Amino acid sequence: MDLNTITEVVRQPSDRPGEDWHQGDAWLAGGTWLYSAEQPDLHRLIDLTALRWEPLVPTDDGLEISATCTIRDLHAFACPVDWTAGILLRASCEAFLSSFKVWNAATVGGNICMSLPAGPMITLTVALEARYELWAPDGSVRVVDALDFVTGEHRNILAPGEILRRVTVPAHALRRRTAHRRFSLTRLGRSTVFLIGTQRPGGTDLLLTVTAGTTRPVRIAFDTMPDARTLRQRIDDLPAGIWFADPNGTPGHRHHLTQHFAEEIRRELLAGDLA
Ligand SMILES: Cc1cc2nc3c(=O)[nH]c(=O)nc-3n(C[C@H](O)[C@H](O)[C@H](O)COP(=O)(O)OP(=O)(O)OC[C@H]3O[C@@H](n4cnc5c(N)ncnc54)[C@H](O)[C@@H]3O)c2cc1C
Repeated sequence: MDLNTITEVVRQPSDRPGEDWHQGDAWLAGGTWLYSAEQPDLHRLIDLTALRWEPLVPTDDGLEISATCTIRDLHAFACPVDWTAGILLRASCEAFLSSFKVWNAATVGGNICMSLPAGPMITLTVALEARYELWAPDGSVRVVDALDFVTGEHRNILAPGEILRRVTVPAHALRRRTAHRRFSLTRLGRSTVFLIGTQRPGGTDLLLTVTAGTTRPVRIAFDTMPDARTLRQRIDDLPAGIWFADPNGTPGHRHHLTQHFAEEIRRELLAGDLA
C-alpha cells in the first residue's frame, strides 16, 4: 500500500538509531505490517534492517536473536543437538499465516513489537524464557522478561522511540523437553490457540505457555506435574477478560481448546517421564 503521509525514509540510520527519534517516526523492519495498512500518524520510517545486525548468535549461554532476524533465517537455523527445544523454532515459524513476502521479509522483532495475540515469535520466546533487550532514545538500555512485554492486543511496554534490539534465549531453556499444540480454522490459517509446554530433562515440572487464545501471553508453572483437575482449575482461574475474540474463535471456544490441548501436553510430557 502507498503510505502517502510518509515524507522521508532513513535508509542508513546511525548505530544508535534512537538518538534522532521524533513523534511520527516508526522503525521499519520487514515492513509486512507497516505497508499493509494506512499509517496516517506516521511521517518518517527508519530502516532497522540497514544496521545489518548479526541475525543469530549461538553462545555457551544460549541463543541471541537480533530483532531484525527474518522468519526465514530463524527457520533455517540448525540448533546444536543438545538443544532439544530447538524444534520449537521451526514449529513457531510455521505457525505464521504467512505469504511468500511475510516468510522472507518479516522479522522476529517486528512480530514481537506488533504484539498480536497470534504472534508466534511471542509464543516461542515466552515459552523459552527469553529476555528482550530494549534501547531507549536517551541511550539507556533495559532488559525485560519476554512474559512482561506484551500487555494486550497490539499493546506492549515499549516507550515512544524505544527499540527492541535483541532476544536472548537461555541455554537451559533450549535443553528442556517440549510438547506443543496449535489450532487454526484452516490448515495454514492464523492461530486460534497456540500452547507450548516445557519440562526440565529428568524433571517433573511443567511450564505451560498459553497464547493466541488470550490477549496477552500467559505462563502457568508447576514444580511437579499437576493432575488433570488441578491443571484445568488453573486455566479456569484465569481472568475471564483474558480470552481473545476475533473471527478465528470466540472466547468460549478458545478457553475450551486451551483446556483440551493443555491436557494433551500434560499427558505427553508425563508419558515421556515414564518412558
Ligand atoms: C498475509 C499476512 C499474514 C500475517 N500473519 C500474521 C500472523 O499469523 N501472526 C502475526 O502475529 N502477524 C501476522 N501478520 C502481521 C505482520 O506481518 C507480522 O506480525 C510480522 O512479523 C511483522 O514483522 P515485520 O518485520 O514485517 O514488521 P514491520 O511491519 O516492519 O513493523 C511492525 C511494527 O513493529 C514496529 N517494529 C518493528 N521492529 C521493531 C523493533 N525492533 N523495535 C521496535 N519496534 C519495531 C514497527 O515500527 C511497526 O509498528 C501478517 C501480515 C500479513 C500481511
